[in-house]
Amino acid sequence: MAKAASKTERKIVLLTGITGFIAKQILVDLLAAGYKVRGTMRNLAKQGEIDAVVEAAGFPRQDVEYIEADLLTDANWAEAAMGCDYVIHTASPFPLNRPKARDALVAPAVGGTMRVLEAAHQAGIKRIVLTSSVVSISEGTPYVENYEFSEADWSDAGSQTIDPYPLSKTLAERAAWDFIGKHKDMELAVINPSFVMGPVQDGDLNTSAELVKMFINGKYPGVPDLQFGIVDVRDISAAHIQAMISHDAAGKRFICSSGNMTMMDIANTLRASLASEHTKKLPKFVMPKLLLRLVGLIDPAVKSILGNVGKRSRFNNGQAQNILNIDFIKSEDSVVAMAQSLIDKKLI
Ligand code: NDP
Repeated sequence: MAKAASKTERKIVLLTGITGFIAKQILVDLLAAGYKVRGTMRNLAKQGEIDAVVEAAGFPRQDVEYIEADLLTDANWAEAAMGCDYVIHTASPFPLNRPKARDALVAPAVGGTMRVLEAAHQAGIKRIVLTSSVVSISEGTPYVENYEFSEADWSDAGSQTIDPYPLSKTLAERAAWDFIGKHKDMELAVINPSFVMGPVQDGDLNTSAELVKMFINGKYPGVPDLQFGIVDVRDISAAHIQAMISHDAAGKRFICSSGNMTMMDIANTLRASLASEHTKKLPKFVMPKLLLRLVGLIDPAVKSILGNVGKRSRFNNGQAQNILNIDFIKSEDSVVAMAQSLIDKKLI
C-alpha cells in the first residue's frame, strides 16, 4: 500500500485517462491516501461512471474533478495541468484487437504523452509518473530462452516484427525520457506493468477483463501456448502512487510483474477456484502450433501471435520491490480476483 499523504496537504494529482481500468484503481487509492484528483477523459459523458466508482468506494464526490481532453488534440491539456502537484499519465490506447496499420496507435501514445508532459512543464509540475508497459522492454529483440528482462532492456522499435501496441508504448516511453532529458527541472518515474489482472471496479471492461470473460464464456475451447507475466491492478496502483512520492523513484523504470502464467495455467487456475457453473466452458486444451499456423492463414490476429508461441522469458521485479516496496500479489490470486469480481458484479 502506498504511503498516505497528510489529509491536510490536499495535493492535487492530474490522472489522465480516469475512465481506464488501471486509472480507476489509482483514483480510489489516491482518494484513500488523502489526495484530490483531477481526471481527464476524452468524453465527459463518462463522468457518471466515475462518480459511481467514487461513491461506491465511499469518498466525497467533490474530491474529484473532471476535464475533457483527447490525446490527439491540444485542447484543455494546459488547463488540466494548471494547479496540480503531480501527474500520473495512464491514458493510451490498449486495444483488444491488433490494429492493421503498424503505426495506428503511435499518434495518441506519443503525441498524447508529449502533450501531457508539455502541459506539466508549463504548469511547473515536477514529478510525472508514466504508465508504460513491459512491452517497451521485451519486444522486437532476438529471442533468448528463459532470458530475465530488467529495466536496462528496451524493445526494438525499429524491428519489423514488433506489433502496433508495443511499438506505441516503446516510442511513447522513449519520447518521455527524451523530454525529461531536456527539462532538468522535471522528474520522471515509469511503471512497466505486465498483463494486469485483479478486481474490476465496474462494467467498463478493458482488454485484460475481456480476455477472462471470453475464457469463462467459452469463446476459446483451446488456447495457444502463450506465456506472459501477470500483475495485480492493486499493486500497479500502489506502484504508481509510490513512484509519485518516493525520492528514489525519480529517473527510474519499474518492471511490475508477479509470476508468469500460460493461457492454459490461467484456465486451470480458474477451473480450480471458481464455482462449477463458471468453469464448464473454460479452455480445455493447448492448440498445436500446426493448427495455429493454418488458422493464421486466414486470421491475421492468430498470425500475429505465432512468433511468441512456446516462448519463455521472465521479468525481474526487484527494483519495484526494493524502491517502491511492492510485495507482489501472487499471479494466480490476481487472475481469480478478476474473474470473481466479474461474477460478483454480474458481468459474466
Ligand atoms: P483501458 O483501456 O481501460 O484504459 C485506457 C485509457 O486510455 C482509457 O481511459 C481511454 O479512454 C484512454 N484513451 C485511449 N485513447 C485515448 C485518446 N485518444 N485520448 C484520451 N484518452 C484515451 O486500459 P488499461 O487501464 O488497462 O490501460 C491503462 C494504461 O496501462 C495504458 O497506458 C496501457 O498501455 C497500460 N498498460 C496496461 C496493461 C494491462 O494489462 N491492462 C499492461 C501494461 C500497460 P476511453 O475510456 O475514452 O476509451
